[in-house]
Amino acid sequence: MIKYTIATLASHSCLQILKGAKDEGFATLAISIKDKAFLYRKFEFIDDIIEIDNYRQYFALENKLKKKNCIIIPHGSFVAYLGSCGDEKITLPYFGNKKILEIEGNRVKQHNWLEKSGLNMPRVFSQTDRIDRMVIVKSNGAAGGQGYFIASNNDELRKGLNTDNFKNGKYFIQEHILGVPVYLQYFYSPLHKRLELMGIDRRYETNVDGVGRIPSVIQIENKIEPSYTVIGNFPIVLRESLLPQVYTMGEKVVNYSQKLVPPKGLYGPFCLETIITPNQQFFCIEISCRIVAGTNLYVNGSPYTDLFFGQPMSTGRRIAREIKEAIRLGRLKEVLDYL
Ligand code: AMP
Ligand code: AMP
Repeated sequence: MIKYTIATLASHSCLQILKGAKDEGFATLAISIKDKAFLYRKFEFIDDIIEIDNYRQYFALENKLKKKNCIIIPHGSFVAYLGSCGDEKITLPYFGNKKILEIEGNRVKQHNWLEKSGLNMPRVFSQTDRIDRMVIVKSNGAAGGQGYFIASNNDELRKGLNTDNFKNGKYFIQEHILGVPVYLQYFYSPLHKRLELMGIDRRYETNVDGVGRIPSVIQIENKIEPSYTVIGNFPIVLRESLLPQVYTMGEKVVNYSQKLVPPKGLYGPFCLETIITPNQQFFCIEISCRIVAGTNLYVNGSPYTDLFFGQPMSTGRRIAREIKEAIRLGRLKEVLDYL
């Protein structure tokens, strides 16, 4: 039987992914920037570390990785560091549907997908619309919340759009929803045709999570603007009465994706980023079609995976388990994308 190696870039959720792969019996490999490799060498579950000077050198390694029968597990650093369409150019077996990435990467297409799936979405505005409520303006790309701003009228919108972050004209204006942000981590299993809830978190964002610690008069005197740069995550368990909505939303998104990019649709780990309002309504602000860093909270499983699997099950391990099962059943093509 072919022996496969689970490989990923050494960043973001690499530790969780490779720990999970090792727990499921795979060989593991991390591709690391030279000065970060010392961190990854500390962990025994990583069998092999290849050092590179910058992430774009990944592509030159592919022949070497092929010889080791590597399966690539993508995460947030692939989007951030491999350049535009970086994921799509990967020629090794890849866990996830690459056809969905173009839709995910375009905020308008992504919005249409989620809306047509039947999710509750914040309204989208164009620059020429009358701004009659609070809006949040997002620069394009997976910027991790960096450089967003809030405006409550057209004047404020114009001023914000004149700053450097937005000069390239690539941005998205969305109704700002006042509530609490809740990130829903799912896994869709193509083998079992089943949606699983892996965990729930919220992000710790600077400085928006810090401004509330300063009296409002001082905020006003110092003209403090909120920013949303993520630096970590908190665990959350939701009121149980909210869980039916959580499952229904995930299922709707997966079902519609099977029409959008047939036959596989969205599979593997994904995350719905939501805001819950005081009347317990979920608004979906974004989707990530891969493992999100908030799953790092649950290397040993979450309350939800504990209920479902009855054994420690991180998202990283869940990915490896799906691949392992697919190998055993001779159904690898159903869970991997090949170029
Ligand atoms: P890093 O490997 O930390 O440089 O992150 C790679 C990409 O993933 C960047 O675009 C980050 O903004 C994003 N990222 C890293 N950690 C998190 C997190 N905890 N939540 C959301 N995004 C993250
Ligand atoms: P995103 O890059 O879309 O994940 O957003 C980063 C952060 O901005 C979120 O975690 C929220 O704190 C905030 N945010 C994004 N969109 C909205 C929205 N429509 N309403 C309120 N807050 C938002």
